[in-house]
Amino acid sequence: METRATVAVLGGGQLGRMLGLAAIPLGVAFRFLDPSPDAPAAAVGELVVGGLDDEAALDEVARGADVVTYEWEGVPATSARHLAAHGMPVRPGDRSLEVSQDRLVEKDTFRALGVGTPEYRAVSSRPDLDTAVDAIGLPAVLKTRRGGYDGKGQAVLRAPSDLDAAWTSLGDVPLILEAFVPFDRELSIVGVRGVDGAIACWRVVENEHRDGILHLTRAPAPSSEALTARAQEIASELLLALDHVGVLAIELFDVEGDLLANEVAPRVHNSGHWTIEGAMTSQFENHVRAVLGLPLGDTSARGTAAMLNCVGAMPDAGAVLTVPGAHLHDYGKAARPGRKLGHITVVADSPADLDARLARLLPLVDR
Ligand code: AMP
Repeated sequence: METRATVAVLGGGQLGRMLGLAAIPLGVAFRFLDPSPDAPAAAVGELVVGGLDDEAALDEVARGADVVTYEWEGVPATSARHLAAHGMPVRPGDRSLEVSQDRLVEKDTFRALGVGTPEYRAVSSRPDLDTAVDAIGLPAVLKTRRGGYDGKGQAVLRAPSDLDAAWTSLGDVPLILEAFVPFDRELSIVGVRGVDGAIACWRVVENEHRDGILHLTRAPAPSSEALTARAQEIASELLLALDHVGVLAIELFDVEGDLLANEVAPRVHNSGHWTIEGAMTSQFENHVRAVLGLPLGDTSARGTAAMLNCVGAMPDAGAVLTVPGAHLHDYGKAARPGRKLGHITVVADSPADLDARLARLLPLVDR
């Protein structure tokens, strides 16, 4: 008789693949639901090909599983509710999906917890946009409330003459106008909460983006000692408020030492990939532990680490692996411009060593 714990995952991208990989030593089996027969996670578990809103496919992937989780916040909340209504534990729950899928609800949630955010107004008509600009001022960022990612679905408004074009390109869906924040840098915090309510966070990290896509994560963020307690408090409060079980990431703007929340991802996150080699327990292993009701692992760091995304093309493996402390992760995806195909983690005992190693790796992903 099958006694292995089985986790069903909605989504089968690289995040699912790394979850499945982390689960192998624990003896946990994985099944994935993804619309693509080429889903990267198929290498580490059984793949059900189907839509994430297809009830028959949802039932199929969940059949016999101990718990259902997801690796993409675009999973319809109705899919989570469908499975929960049939007695399947879904962790994190539909509330985490609902909050992270709508930028307005997300910001309202942060504000209700006393967490700062950029000033914002809901915009649902062209006159609304004028009113919101009057209230917030320029520059500002107009974003779709739902469905945006990696900088897509948003427009920066610098002058009143930008409003018409932004409205034409984004309008006709619910929007949000945010004050443009002159941040010093972008940070993120990844945390995890267990079934028993235990909470743990990894280090605060600093993120650099290129063309709207994460390029480099430094762990820890340089000079972040004074910010760490506040970032962990923000993560803990949100984990608790959402009754979230599993990993969650919050993107933050650092404005002269004040932290403003930008957005939340109710899942393992690209800015947490460094934890595979750079922490005692990775975000992936702790997510698996959390959703199965197992004790959480130690989130403390092993040395200092950085992560570089490989976007559009993979670097030469031999060149990467000659750098001490470097590890290469290839997601097995077909190359396409702008597509995340893999990442490199590099760890070192000191920030100076890390910088020297990074200097050798950066040209390999620079294209
Ligand atoms: P998002 O999709 O909200 O994460 O936005 C993508 C990127 O746009 C962020 O990583 C920031 O670099 C930038 N951005 C988003 N919102 C703002 C804002 N209110 N002020 C300044 N920059 C922003």
